[in-house]
Amino acid sequence: MRALVLTAPETLSVQDIPVREPGEKEVLIEVKACGVCGTDLHMFHGDKGAFENSYPLVMGHEFSGVIARIGSGVTKFEVGDHVVVDPNVYCGQCAPCQRGAVHYCEHMVGIGTTVYGGFAEYCTVPERAVYRVPKELPFEVAAMMEPVSCAMHGIDRSNIRPGDVAVIIGYGPIGEIMFQLAQCAGAAQIAVIEPQKAKREKALKHGAVLAVDPMTEDVKAVLQKAGIEPTTVIECVGRKNTMEMALDIAANQATVMLFGLTPPETKLDVYAYEQLFKKEISVTGSYINPLVAERVIRLLSSGKIDMGRIITDVISLEDSVKVFTDNSYRSHGKIVIVP
Ligand SMILES: [Zn+2]
Ligand SMILES: [Zn+2]
Repeated sequence: MRALVLTAPETLSVQDIPVREPGEKEVLIEVKACGVCGTDLHMFHGDKGAFENSYPLVMGHEFSGVIARIGSGVTKFEVGDHVVVDPNVYCGQCAPCQRGAVHYCEHMVGIGTTVYGGFAEYCTVPERAVYRVPKELPFEVAAMMEPVSCAMHGIDRSNIRPGDVAVIIGYGPIGEIMFQLAQCAGAAQIAVIEPQKAKREKALKHGAVLAVDPMTEDVKAVLQKAGIEPTTVIECVGRKNTMEMALDIAANQATVMLFGLTPPETKLDVYAYEQLFKKEISVTGSYINPLVAERVIRLLSSGKIDMGRIITDVISLEDSVKVFTDNSYRSHGKIVIVP
């Protein structure tokens, strides 16, 4: 099969590699679409804080496809089923797994991060990591199950109730997903803070009540003037200044959801009295996407969220190296690789 193989940091090529036959409890998936994630870019560059790679590696953890072969002990799936994969395969046996915190599993296997993933024509995965999706769901949209699941876990932790006011900082693909999930959760007003004009215009088109440019405007003053008191602030950038902004603009008793992946060395300057103590805010994070896949598949299938609109590029596997090496792709939205 053809596969995009990472053999060392910043050394990536499309090669012929063998298909791994499924074991007893495994299925072989013919990959139809696989999203490119920030994590893949970190791994491509060999950044610290990303997964400890062993080389060679086929990356890609956001994928959908069709079951091509099944192992002898597989009971849930048949050849031809349309499926998506939850790439974080937990053991189910360790102490965190037993208490239901499966995303803290001590023996986590990451499809596309620690073992071969979906930037390939085929991928062999354990049956229990696989979920069936309706055949009407386009493969590119189904492949968004994983990033939407990450955002769903964040929304679950952000305490949005019907009628609430949310502010989303950063309107890249994740900000766009968060926007739609915040709507689903019941937020009645959503404002967006985003430096790029085109993205602000998109947010307004999608129904944001306000889109603020943090480079030229005093964000807090603009929100106040518009009468927006954020009961939830969702930070989707991961920079020191945007995280501090999230704490600063949060209303009394608000929830601040720090969602953007931040470098491990980031430290924040916080006014403990003004920003935390007196405001009684709840600050929370969101790590991976435990146990939400089925809800996300229902949401994607229902049409209540539109993930097609975040996909800006569909690139063939043969041409896929450029997605990593050509920095002009960094300003695009979600990129999907198709074999
Ligand atoms: Zn991802
Ligand atoms: Zn475990």
